[in-house]
Amino acid sequence: MSDPKVNELMEKVVSLCKRRGFIFPSSEIYGGINGFWDYGPLGAELKRNVKELWWHSMTRHREDVVGLEATIIMHPQIWRASGHVDTFSDPMSDCLLTRKRFRSDQIEPQSGTAYHYTGAQDAVSGKCVDEPYAVLLPAGKPPESARKIANQFYQARGLGQVELQGERAEKVENSQRFNPDNGSLLTEPRPFNLMFKTYVGPVPDEDNVAYLRPETAQAIFVQFKNVLDSSRQKMPFGIAQIGKAFRNEVTPRNFTFRSREFEQMELEFFIKPDEVVEALCGTVAKPAGPGHPGEPRPDWGWQLWHQYWVEERIRFYGEIGLPRESLEEYWQKPEELAHYARATVDLLFKFPFGTQELEGIAARSDFDLSQHERFSGKSQAVFDEELRTAWAKLAEERRQALWQRYHDARHQYLTKAGVPAQQAEQDAREDADGLARGQYIPHVIEPSAGVDRLILGLLTHAYGEVTTTDAKGKTATEVVLRFHPKVAPIKVGVFPLLKNKPELVAKAREVFGLLRSEMAVFYDEAGSIGRRYARQDEAGTPFCVTIDFDTLGETPELKDTVTIRYRDDGRQERLPIAGLKAHLLPLVR
Ligand code: ATP
Repeated sequence: MSDPKVNELMEKVVSLCKRRGFIFPSSEIYGGINGFWDYGPLGAELKRNVKELWWHSMTRHREDVVGLEATIIMHPQIWRASGHVDTFSDPMSDCLLTRKRFRSDQIEPQSGTAYHYTGAQDAVSGKCVDEPYAVLLPAGKPPESARKIANQFYQARGLGQVELQGERAEKVENSQRFNPDNGSLLTEPRPFNLMFKTYVGPVPDEDNVAYLRPETAQAIFVQFKNVLDSSRQKMPFGIAQIGKAFRNEVTPRNFTFRSREFEQMELEFFIKPDEVVEALCGTVAKPAGPGHPGEPRPDWGWQLWHQYWVEERIRFYGEIGLPRESLEEYWQKPEELAHYARATVDLLFKFPFGTQELEGIAARSDFDLSQHERFSGKSQAVFDEELRTAWAKLAEERRQALWQRYHDARHQYLTKAGVPAQQAEQDAREDADGLARGQYIPHVIEPSAGVDRLILGLLTHAYGEVTTTDAKGKTATEVVLRFHPKVAPIKVGVFPLLKNKPELVAKAREVFGLLRSEMAVFYDEAGSIGRRYARQDEAGTPFCVTIDFDTLGETPELKDTVTIRYRDDGRQERLPIAGLKAHLLPLVR
């Protein structure tokens, strides 16, 4: 159960989102649709800013990452190769009484006494229902309460006057088999594939099944060769993509945190396997300690590249207003790692409902490209002239050792993938022989972030309240969203002091026109200046500019100057209109 204060904060954020047009329930006039959300005018701007900032930091600010925009529906075989058709499922249980659905692994464990029944009989008609049932009661509650619930269960199965049969009490510890709301037994957990299915073309049969992508990453893997061949990138390099993903989550919840349609920002950064780095550089650099390892170097193996991307991502969050202290790094334990992953760090954010994943950064070995190579029959190996040359110069002993290590890793992958022993050995040998020809399958580091979770993080982190007291001693509480100016949906509010003075309005419209070509600006002439500030504070606008009589020259030395007010400290200063754009641009970009 979460703290009421925490719920209060979430309730306030959700209601602010609706009131100010950040986020609305999808299809609301029809009662909404669970797990789907729309972004209103302010939300759309906020989201666009976040995606632009990610895109800029990933692609335009780097020489070694390029972009991709792929389709949502792709060849269904992709999802077999990726493992999603077979294993992308969550365990699901239903309440046997109310039919409410739960994600079995997310049910809060409960302890108490379980009352089991073997079945029940109708005292009047004699009709029997043999279905076993159980109810969990917290310690100290009388069995009568369990019998009441069990009665309802058997009544729903056609019995009138229920006589319960075979009652047996059992102590239960930390069980996830009962509905936490009413104690009723749940169905056995069963796997539920999270992919949305559809049909391509007019015939809705199994041959035409396709899936809405559950992640953007796979498109990057299947276009890896095309991008490499067309972009003149050299290993190591990355491909970035932002786009919609769809998961039929069993229990969407916590506002947009777990949605059924959401957006991801994913980077696949392709690196040389450690054996190749060693062949080229003589050694693979070891991490010197925690923290940012600095500018990339040719002797980095997967460990340093992984550490680099964890730190780069933390840096990114800091730059858009989520400081390191608001995040937690969770290094998955060896037993939690996917079988192909060498390391995975979840970057967690302290949401009001708990510290939960914002982004995952995984070192995924060469699993993804290898899978697509096997399933498509198209080689995903790259050719590296430098490796071919370096290999030829290696001492025989070193060559043998590297060959063996590469062979063993490939053999392990092929065996786990179910390739028959003889074939696996032959393929692993061929792959290791490829090193001498300068060929290898790249490994990958994957920072994978959710746009919607980030928006929610930014909203909850920025949310604040200020209590003001006016001249008459009346207090009021106002909301202020302290967004970093880079993400703020509106950068500047522009106000004429009075709306009924045409000269003020004309000048304010002029300032508005001057700024709007460069940034999102909101013109507002309604109500007192204080009210207008408050409205912009609630929208998260970092700067407000007021045009007054001094701007028009009432005080000659202040002609063509305006007052700029800073949201976070309420500071005000006078600036010439001519210098306004140059003053604001570096603050908002
Ligand atoms: P979780 O364990 O919370 O379900 P995950 O580990 O399955 O997440 P990934 O498959 O690693 O998530 O997806 C990468 C990112 O995509 C997540 O870190 C998250 O930000 C985002 N994401 C995943 N599922 C959802 C969802 N249902 N709604 C919103 N964002 C999501």
